[in-house]
Amino acid sequence: MSYSHSKLETYQNCPRKYKLCYLDRLRPEEEGIEAFLGSCFHETMEKLYSELRFRVMSLEETKAYYESLWKKNFHDKVKIVEEGRTVDDYFRLGLKFIEDYYKHYYPFNQNRILGLELELEIDLYGDSRYLLKGFADRIDLTPDGLIEIHDYKTASQLPPQATADADRQLALYQLGIKQKWPWAEKFRLIWHYVAFDQEISSTRTPEQLDQLRAEIAWLIDKMEADLEFPAQESGLCRWCAYWAYCPLKRHEVELDKLPPKQISGRRGGGSR
Ligand code: SF4
Repeated sequence: MSYSHSKLETYQNCPRKYKLCYLDRLRPEEEGIEAFLGSCFHETMEKLYSELRFRVMSLEETKAYYESLWKKNFHDKVKIVEEGRTVDDYFRLGLKFIEDYYKHYYPFNQNRILGLELELEIDLYGDSRYLLKGFADRIDLTPDGLIEIHDYKTASQLPPQATADADRQLALYQLGIKQKWPWAEKFRLIWHYVAFDQEISSTRTPEQLDQLRAEIAWLIDKMEADLEFPAQESGLCRWCAYWAYCPLKRHEVELDKLPPKQISGRRGGGSR
């Protein structure tokens, strides 16, 4: 079985959700609007950078591309969790992200682009026991020979540096790039927190990468030995689309279907 950062993270956050999503392969139609906005932003960046081989898209054209993606892909299962927010609020938020990013990096010629949405395969110890896959948003080569691994984040919180220094995903991609291009020597991991127009960057030592390999191998062993996949309630449940299948949340979905009188006095709070 091949793993990914998302699979590992989902398991760590809630083993039951991991089972429902990746082992039972249940695919709920619901999608959080934050994830939807994130997809539209990522696709727009991919278009902007892939066009660079030929030309620089104008800001208006880039925003129009984002708008066309939004309209084409929007569906009635896109859910808003934040009370009082509208679809238009999120649409305009994405436009602002694009405008800020565009103005910050125009004319986008700082580096040479080596890959967009680049698929990476990671064989942790080179013996095919622990295989992982991932897609890096963008890989750059800087004028001084550094490989930069870029990741776009549309999150509404700017994490502390310690979070970037402990991040698994881009460090894993560094391992994948080293396997794909053994000539690559120096790396920088960069997160674009577009809601704040801020970059956060980090690097990894060989010892940290060895430690990462060991931690991932340990986690995969644990996942493969798990027979229970317990549900693990947390703040992330608000955005989970598996309530109907979850032993901790199923009853709330059932209550939502009852007429108001029957619900009265039975709900303990915390509904979506
Ligand atoms: S609702 Fe929460 S506890 Fe239930 S599967 Fe989703 S994340 Fe896990």
